[in-house]
Amino acid sequence: MDGTDTKAAAPVLILLGPPGAGKGTQARMLQERHGLVQLSTGDLLRAAVTAGTEAGNRARAVMDAGALVSDEIVIAILRDRLAEPDCARGVILDGFPRTPVQAEALDALLADSGQRINAAISLDVEDSAMVDRISGRFTCGACGEGYHDTFKPTAKPGTCDKCGSTEITRRSDDNAATVAQRLQAYHAQTAPLIAYYERAGALARVDAMGPIEEIAAELSATVTRATA
Ligand code: AMP
Repeated sequence: MDGTDTKAAAPVLILLGPPGAGKGTQARMLQERHGLVQLSTGDLLRAAVTAGTEAGNRARAVMDAGALVSDEIVIAILRDRLAEPDCARGVILDGFPRTPVQAEALDALLADSGQRINAAISLDVEDSAMVDRISGRFTCGACGEGYHDTFKPTAKPGTCDKCGSTEITRRSDDNAATVAQRLQAYHAQTAPLIAYYERAGALARVDAMGPIEEIAAELSATVTRATA
């Protein structure tokens, strides 16, 4: 990407940060506040695993080990999802790109449709807090709302505040051993993207160690500036 050409095309934002930084939680809030579509390659891959597709079957063991799924699989999944009509509203990418190859593929995909990245926003956190954040998290299986045993419990135990469902799910890779591996993969393969987007003039940074609502407010202001 060259970071210069501002088009009136649909906004494209990227959330960068290690596992546990709050990308999913914040992407869902941005989806509601800014009308953007949250695209999580983790969610897309988990859906492929559940559906038993060929890509899902290839990805399953890699995800359980906390390593990164191949660029080829992830880029193909993202390309297909980006081509769906709702993405014309603008997207917030959560968990993609995660390697320099994916970042370059995204630039090429967007260039093909006359789009560009408005901003890559790094959620800055301390690694030491990530294991606790990840270990306690759970999701409503019906509406996708995210919770945490300590930081964001449901008002009524086992019941989603948002939709009332009791279908609570916990990710199989949210355990201490896998988290350590996922943090290592982040630092080795994904953290270099911060410099990539800084060079492109597209990087923004948000301190993501505080309360969820404060981070959401700062992030929302950053998105407003980046899409003005
Ligand atoms: P996440 O939900 O973003 O934490 O992703 C869960 C797991 O899915 C990761 O640990 C990887 O195994 C895989 N994954 C998600 N997104 C990507 C990506 N962009 N590239 C490679 N692997 C990914």
